[in-house]
Amino acid sequence: MAGLDKETRQLILSTLRRYAESKLVPEYVLNLDHEDRFPQEVLQELYDPSRLGLHLVFIPEEYGGLGGNAYDIYCVSELMAGVDLGIATGLLATFLGSDPIKVGGTPEQKSYWMGRVADEALLMAYGATEPQAGSDLAALTTRAEPVHEDGVLKGYRITGRKQWISNGGVADLYSILALAPGGPSWFLVEKGAQGFTHGKPEDKHGIRASNTAALFLDDVYVPADHLLGSVEGQGLVQAQAVFGYTRLMVGAFGLGAGWEALRRAIRYSQERIQAGAPLSQKQGYTHKLIVPNAARLEASRAYIEWVAERLDAGEEGYTTEGAVAKYMATEAGNRAAEDAIQALGGYGYTKEYMVEKIKRDVRITTIYEGTSEIMEWTIARDRWQWHLKTRGAYYQEWAGRLGDVHRKEPENGADAASLALCALGAILERCRLDRLTRNQHVLFRLGELIAYAESAAVFAERVSQKPTEAICLDVPTRQALARIFAREAALKVAVDGLRWTVGAGQTFPGLPDLLNLPAIYQAQEGLVADMDFAAQQLNLAFGG
Ligand SMILES: Cc1cc2nc3c(=O)[nH]c(=O)nc-3n(C[C@H](O)[C@H](O)[C@H](O)COP(=O)(O)OP(=O)(O)OC[C@H]3O[C@@H](n4cnc5c(N)ncnc54)[C@H](O)[C@@H]3O)c2cc1C
Repeated sequence: MAGLDKETRQLILSTLRRYAESKLVPEYVLNLDHEDRFPQEVLQELYDPSRLGLHLVFIPEEYGGLGGNAYDIYCVSELMAGVDLGIATGLLATFLGSDPIKVGGTPEQKSYWMGRVADEALLMAYGATEPQAGSDLAALTTRAEPVHEDGVLKGYRITGRKQWISNGGVADLYSILALAPGGPSWFLVEKGAQGFTHGKPEDKHGIRASNTAALFLDDVYVPADHLLGSVEGQGLVQAQAVFGYTRLMVGAFGLGAGWEALRRAIRYSQERIQAGAPLSQKQGYTHKLIVPNAARLEASRAYIEWVAERLDAGEEGYTTEGAVAKYMATEAGNRAAEDAIQALGGYGYTKEYMVEKIKRDVRITTIYEGTSEIMEWTIARDRWQWHLKTRGAYYQEWAGRLGDVHRKEPENGADAASLALCALGAILERCRLDRLTRNQHVLFRLGELIAYAESAAVFAERVSQKPTEAICLDVPTRQALARIFAREAALKVAVDGLRWTVGAGQTFPGLPDLLNLPAIYQAQEGLVADMDFAAQQLNLAFGG
């Protein structure tokens, strides 16, 4: 998908930034958090076409939108998450809620409903989760009973309950997953439909400016043309089909919130004098609390941009890649926010300094749109198949390509990333020979190692070839971050891989040699110097 041209995207982002700087200032969002209040007026202003018309970014041009693509969604999501993740969630719930229409609707349904979302700036909600069906959506019990008149299907009566629905108490239009006789299916339900009510807003740990509520459907009648796609049983396939995009969006939330926390920590560290010098000059501080987080966040950015590029080129699927992007970026964002609290010491633990709120907010990103554990599972299952199908060649060949990158551009960390992929291939093969993935824990840990190794590889491949425009860090700084991350990934794959394969009973005594541990330790050479350089550059880029 072509998406917005660069000028339009920059215009939207700068307008959004200006709006945030004037209205969504720290005092305002802290107050929303304190009062646990959903700011309906902010969403109205953001959707108002005469001001921002932000919802139009996510609507294809043929239905009156601006036709933003995955890259645009990532940029807007990152920016909004840095401002307030609760408001970002409310905003993006419309995008999520309209996805079943975009993916599964008939041409008439798309035209009618997407046109209405665009023109009337309808707030939407996405109703999939139920009290007993979260990660396992197939366990859903909300039912849609067909209503026939004179042998003709006229509509459905929907009965059931939805749980934790963003915008649940405030939306105008809801996409609801329900079990029809033909299987799980998406239906559209309008606010105010008879028998359709919602619970009180949940009292949440974070994203308190977003409205989250349960939905109750008691014999709610919808006409037959509210069944998306007009064919029953497509619901789970349609839900799967959008994961590449939606998980990218939540990944961008992790990135935006994590970087906002880190930027605050960097600024603070320059002002805070301890033992005669600013904290920003102290290795024990920067090399623990700042630099590794910047490296992880930027590795996940590289992966997000890579997935967005593939999706925008019209390539199908990318569910697994969306999972890697979400997993790495949200875990990195959560960790960065946690370390930012530590970086601000006692001030970090108080509300006024914001990082405490960011930490509570970003925590949700490792839970909604698929938990981190479900991501690990998704990644491991898919790549395990690739390992089997290619008889182990998948990662060995990728490692070879990285060797070529390293010969041309030795500054990118491609050598360490290549070691990570080689070690990963060896671990996967050992798991196959000893049948270790029968242990669920081993399989999930493989998911984590795969995500680390692939992120290191993609970061090394792109860092100088496709430098990002989304952050003000020059190529040498990002190359240092790529090297730092690749070293971490290689060590993690080898050491954790060994731990879990040995722990699960692997039988080959020479496995440590196969993983090339000496080379992986040798690749750590230069790590502290790279961290010195990265710390200095981050101070320059984000100083007060
Ligand atoms: C603030 C908020 C907003 C939300 N917004 C929406 C929304 O707009 N629309 C919507 O439909 N949903 C929404 N959700 C629901 C969210 O997507 C689910 O909470 C999430 O998918 C996890 O489901 P669950 O809560 O039922 O947890 P469970 O699935 O019960 O998981 C509990 C724990 O068990 C782990 N686990 C689950 N299955 C397995 C397994 N097979 N093996 C090993 N471990 C496993 C999980 O990783 C997790 O750690 C929202 C949730 C929250 C909290």
